[in-house]
Amino acid sequence: MFQSKLFTKTRREAPKDEVAKNADLLIRAGYIHKEMAGSYSYLPLGKRVLENIERIVRQEMDAIGGQEIRMATLHPSEPWKQTGAWDKVDVVFKINSRTEKEYTVGQSEEEIVTPIAKEYVQSYKDLPVAIYQIGQKYRDELRAKSGIMRGREFTMKDMYSFHETQEDFDLFYATAKDAYLRVYERCGLVAKATEASGGSFTEKLSYEFMVLTDAGEDDILYCDSCSYCANVEITKEAEGDGCTRCPKGKLARAKASEVGNIFDLGTKYPRDFGFTYMNKEGNASTPIMGCFGIGITRLMGVAAEALADEKGIVWPESIAPFRVHILNLSVGDEEADKAARALYDELTAKGVAVLCDDRADVRAGEKFADSDLIGIPHRVVVSKKTISEGKFEYKKRTAGDARMLSTVELLALFN
Ligand code: ATP
Ligand code: MG
Repeated sequence: MFQSKLFTKTRREAPKDEVAKNADLLIRAGYIHKEMAGSYSYLPLGKRVLENIERIVRQEMDAIGGQEIRMATLHPSEPWKQTGAWDKVDVVFKINSRTEKEYTVGQSEEEIVTPIAKEYVQSYKDLPVAIYQIGQKYRDELRAKSGIMRGREFTMKDMYSFHETQEDFDLFYATAKDAYLRVYERCGLVAKATEASGGSFTEKLSYEFMVLTDAGEDDILYCDSCSYCANVEITKEAEGDGCTRCPKGKLARAKASEVGNIFDLGTKYPRDFGFTYMNKEGNASTPIMGCFGIGITRLMGVAAEALADEKGIVWPESIAPFRVHILNLSVGDEEADKAARALYDELTAKGVAVLCDDRADVRAGEKFADSDLIGIPHRVVVSKKTISEGKFEYKKRTAGDARMLSTVELLALFN
């Protein structure tokens, strides 16, 4: 993509009324547009990041047998009344219509997916099944001050699974936990699987996946030597205590952001909807259900905020909107334009996504500042000076110094 054609532009001044660093950076760099607190539009750069995260999540969910669907987001109120959520869950939006019928918009989708599964699962032979979607969620959040990390509208991957036995559920739960850890790792983040409470409808524990960052709204205790980690909400342990899971560990306290969680929902929702199947003995039995969420837009916010430096965003390679940012500092010079275009074409032919700053009348200093703010992992400068040496100036976003590379050396970085 050519930057002269990109309809969004960077801006130097901080957006008004924005206290979250992730939204401040993403707005200034042209990734998102704020509609109101907790509601953002995703612009071309932002949409590319979301799609990269979604692709990773989709691959990992498909790999553990998830089947992707797209559920309605506009719901009748009846199933929400049937499960008790209409009155009990405070973030549920309640929409009046001119026909006096009440609706809601999905804040989670147990109420929709359980009746769908009920319709198709009749026998033990139809189990287990894991159904997921990647879509918009709507919640009447009181505090929406964390930018895209806490939206009133946000994107979530939500998966729901149904099982014959607790053992089968436990097996899938462990598989999903590993898949979750792979998702975060592939997105360039380190997440800890944290023991937490099970939420409104279950006494059981759940796992929350926490990325350590001061931007987070949660407090966790984690062992400095093993993988034990717990939300402070559920533990009586304190900072400095010895770890109960390993001999030499000590517990440390940190701020963290919850980028996903997985729950054992037991049989609540199948019971609410009269969902039974014929078991091996020929009797009607109620399936055990799990739910598995990942905050797609929150993940983007955490990566933008937690990995940034004083100059701007620093995207991990896997989710960056483009991998390479070519800065042509001599636009209008025939040789520079030709060299920039040739490199653009060669990288594109190798499947590398490239943004080329071909804007005329923009000073070099501004191009460098924009490039740092936008945060693409690899920067390549083309100018009369680099051409006179027959090379390109190459720098990684995370590196201090640039080096001069020939075309062959540069292309070899992307084999
Ligand atoms: P939180 O405690 O942060 O409110 P939650 O327990 O309500 O999260 P779930 O209902 O399990 O979260 O949703 C699954 C995932 O969706 C969360 O782990 C989080 O990553 C993301 N998420 C939840 N609420 C929001 C929100 N308001 N904005 C953006 N992402 C969210
Ligand atoms: Mg919540």
